[in-house]
Amino acid sequence: MKVNTPPGYSEHHTGRAVDLATPGCPPLTEEFETTAAFAWLVRHAHRFGFTMRYPRGNRFGIAYEPWHWAVQEPE
Ligand SMILES: [Zn+2]
Repeated sequence: MKVNTPPGYSEHHTGRAVDLATPGCPPLTEEFETTAAFAWLVRHAHRFGFTMRYPRGNRFGIAYEPWHWAVQEPE
């Protein structure tokens, strides 16, 4: 497993992000993107102000994290 951010420097430190998991899928794996929970998030999370912070090819240069969703930053 890759470590994306050193301890204490993760966005979780800010309290603005959550790591999501669902039964039948090992937590913190790319496999999460194949779950019904992920499909729901893609369709609806924005309505609740959440966005997938680290999609593939994200501008932060951080590995893809389909399980990590965060409050959208103000424009
Ligand atoms: Zn996370």
